[in-house]
Amino acid sequence: MDCLEIERDQVTLCILLGAGQYGQVYKGIYTDCFGTNRIIAVKVEKTEENKEVECNEADALRMLRHDFIINLIGVCNDRCNTSPMLMMEFAEYGELGEYLQINRPFVDTEMLLYYMWQVSSALTYIHSKDYVHRDIAVRNILVMNPRHVKLADFGLARKLENNIYIGKYYKVPIRWMSPESLKLNSFSTASDIWMFGVCVWEMLMYGAKPYNGMSNNEAFDCILRGNLLHTPEFCPEGLEELILNCWNYCPTRRPDSRKIENQLCKIINEHLSSEID
Ligand code: ATP
Repeated sequence: MDCLEIERDQVTLCILLGAGQYGQVYKGIYTDCFGTNRIIAVKVEKTEENKEVECNEADALRMLRHDFIINLIGVCNDRCNTSPMLMMEFAEYGELGEYLQINRPFVDTEMLLYYMWQVSSALTYIHSKDYVHRDIAVRNILVMNPRHVKLADFGLARKLENNIYIGKYYKVPIRWMSPESLKLNSFSTASDIWMFGVCVWEMLMYGAKPYNGMSNNEAFDCILRGNLLHTPEFCPEGLEELILNCWNYCPTRRPDSRKIENQLCKIINEHLSSEID
């Protein structure tokens, strides 16, 4: 479905799902011009700075349509000086981090690998369109059903110019960031790959927080000194190497997402054949 301009009276806000750094998200109902109701998620931003973040998110999501990316249904624009609203498809099972914590006994390694592959496939698509996501983490992956996840939260996503984006000083997810993003505020497809490595670590740890017990400043120092996260004790064959490659200090030595996607396919196949043996 194409992204629509939606009138405010076509949207009913039902319950508050949560509030992130940049605004609030509600479960709501969208009534289309034929009177059909559809459950949706509605993002409402508050401050001026956040409005800019939301406009970025709407612009990026209008351009990016993919099976593993949350779908923008419409935008309700700021006609009477109220906050603009973003209408997105609703993810029944919420965010992946929480989902993994709650459903740990039911999510096996095969399913984790499959989630990783879905996110890598979304990244390959985003990067092919010259966008960077800049906030890849399990809290920003939504679970549509137990076998299907989608990358969401494109508020920090940016179009690249000459393969690079120099960030403004918004609030940034320090624990997920690459050394060059922390030091130079420099973002690229390679810095997304570093974040993807942290996100894979989070999945293997069933939603644990990276550098838990440390302050943001301590995590910042650890990353710059090369004191990185320990790969989990249980790591399927090939996955530790993949994570460590994502965390190469030299951005140009990190694999691109297409390569990661292919490696994950291989790891999934090897995992499945070892289960059969
Ligand atoms: P941040 O924006 O700081 O990264 P966040 O991801 O927690 O933080 P939001 O993206 O604003 O914050 O989301 C707030 C809550 O709404 C989260 O619990 C998220 O899972 C939920 N949510 C967001 N989008 C959807 C959606 N499309 N369907 C269902 N739940 C959603």
